[in-house]
Amino acid sequence: MKVYDISSAIFEGMPVYKNKPEKQPKIETVTNGHVTESRLSLDVHTGTHIDSPLHMINDGDTFETIDIEKLVGQSKVFDLTSVKDKITASDIENLDIQANDFVLFKTTNSDDEEFNFDFVFVAEDAAKFLADKGVRGVGVDALGVERAQPGHPTHKALFGNDVIVIEGLRLAEVEAGNYFMVAAPLKLQGTDASPARVLLFDELK
Ligand SMILES: [Zn+2]
Repeated sequence: MKVYDISSAIFEGMPVYKNKPEKQPKIETVTNGHVTESRLSLDVHTGTHIDSPLHMINDGDTFETIDIEKLVGQSKVFDLTSVKDKITASDIENLDIQANDFVLFKTTNSDDEEFNFDFVFVAEDAAKFLADKGVRGVGVDALGVERAQPGHPTHKALFGNDVIVIEGLRLAEVEAGNYFMVAAPLKLQGTDASPARVLLFDELK
C-alpha cells in the first residue's frame, strides 16, 4: 500500500496567502539545560487546512461542527492541470462526480513553490455544481478555493450545502484516480479553520 502525504510543510518562510508577513508561522525555541521546547504561532489557514463556515459567514458554524467521519473515506483525484485561471462548471460537469464523493482537484497550483497571485480557483458555477451534486467535500491545491470574486460566492455555495473545503493540498505526485483519504485536522474548538495532515492511500491491496 502506498501512502501519499498531500500536506504542505509548515516552516518559517513557507508560502502564505498573498505573502502577508502576519500570516507567517512563528516558531520560538527555548533550550534550558537539556530540555528544548518550541512555541508555535500559527494562523489557522496556514498550509494545508480545512475551513469552517464561520470563515466566510458571520455566526457560521465553528470548526468542531465538522464531522470527522466525512474527512475519512473514499476520495477522487481529478487532473485539471490543463485548466487555466479558474475551474468552471464546464470543466467538471463531465467528470465522474457523484453524491457523497470527496473530490480533490489537481491543477498547475501543485507545481508552485511560492505563492502565486494568479492561482487557479474554483469559480462560482463550479461550486454550485458541486453543491447540487451533494459532494462531501472539495479539496484544492491553492491556499484559497476562490480569488477575486466579490462576496466570496464559491465559499458560500459550498458552506451553504455542508460541503467541506480543504485548501493548500500538494498533489504534484498524485495521479488521477480513487484513493482512501484520511484528513486529520487539529481538534480545535470555536475557530474558522484548522491546519490538517491529509494522507491518501492507494486502494488497499
Ligand atoms: Zn482557509
